[in-house]
Amino acid sequence: TKLIVAIDGPSGAGKSTLSKALAKHTGYVNIDTGAMYRSVALLANRQQVDVADEHALQRLCDGMTIEFVRDTEQERVIVNGEDVSQQIRTPEVSLLTSKVAAQPVVRDAMVRLQRQMGEVGGVVLEGRDIGTVVFPNADVKFFLSATAEERGRRRYEELKAKGVEVDLQQTIAEVEQRDAADSAREHAPLKRADDAIDIDSTRMGIDEVLDFMLQEISA
Ligand code: C5P
Repeated sequence: TKLIVAIDGPSGAGKSTLSKALAKHTGYVNIDTGAMYRSVALLANRQQVDVADEHALQRLCDGMTIEFVRDTEQERVIVNGEDVSQQIRTPEVSLLTSKVAAQPVVRDAMVRLQRQMGEVGGVVLEGRDIGTVVFPNADVKFFLSATAEERGRRRYEELKAKGVEVDLQQTIAEVEQRDAADSAREHAPLKRADDAIDIDSTRMGIDEVLDFMLQEISA
């Protein structure tokens, strides 16, 4: 059977890395829902759409196509036919994303797309509200966490590897800032599903977490 696997947790906990690895091992499709909200933020920024203007955001979401394409090892995000994989990862877009993602019109549009992409099964969805809102009936739910300092350090290394120059302390501060915004918002705040399996990855390697997840999925 083709399962629906949900991975939720704060930024930098290892969700992207693990969901990609998990998808590769199971042959499932990986759906990075954060990249979807980031894409909305990128377009809003470019088109100078006010993040408080619901109608403009609605129009933007309605006219938007998002595809996930895997070429060799990299996973690319294609929005309206354009490869935006790099541009959605800048600190500027990251901060704007939390604001855009707090808007109900944006969440409704993205949740609808996520359900369309995922309902067939054979998917790993990673985000903040997959196990609580998008697929409350997901077959397996993981809640992946780590300390803010460790998550900030990982984000810093990730950006550095991509050639993006950032400051470590500032990156940790941004992670904390984003956690606060994501947990405090009124609509679909970051929340652990009651039936989620907890994983604290602070002192765990990727392979260790992956093995644990694979075991849980086949159980
Ligand atoms: O996972 P990532 O760090 O790429 O997500 C970027 C932002 O998108 C988060 O900080 C959060 O504000 C938003 N997001 C969300 N719901 C999701 C996934 C991401 O609100 N399911």
